[in-house]
Amino acid sequence: MRWSIDRELIEYIMEISKDYYPKEFLALLRADKNAIKEILFVPGLKSSDSRASFDTLALPHYFDVVGTVHSHPSESGEPSHQDLMMFSRYPVNMIVFYPFSEDCFKTYDNKGDPVELGMLSDR
Ligand SMILES: [Zn+2]
Repeated sequence: MRWSIDRELIEYIMEISKDYYPKEFLALLRADKNAIKEILFVPGLKSSDSRASFDTLALPHYFDVVGTVHSHPSESGEPSHQDLMMFSRYPVNMIVFYPFSEDCFKTYDNKGDPVELGMLSDR
């Protein structure tokens, strides 16, 4: 599956991540087919200096949620062990990292392997 995301949504995610910095930001990704269109803020999100997490079991099932996005206050886009456990539920997972410019993100599948994420700018 080849995933894509709107450039405007990337910019929005980076703005939110800057607002949260140095805390982590975490949200779900909603898609129309394989195009990521929207982020979904999660009620009860726990954010701290070191990690962001939520109880995915407590979430209602949204059929169009395809993954997660969270920020790292460091310059690393590598998933932690905890990240990998969260990723296992979804096919596409983004990590955005400091300093949150447009190309400061990495994308992984449910096994933690890198996946390519195309950028859509025409809207
Ligand atoms: Zn992480």
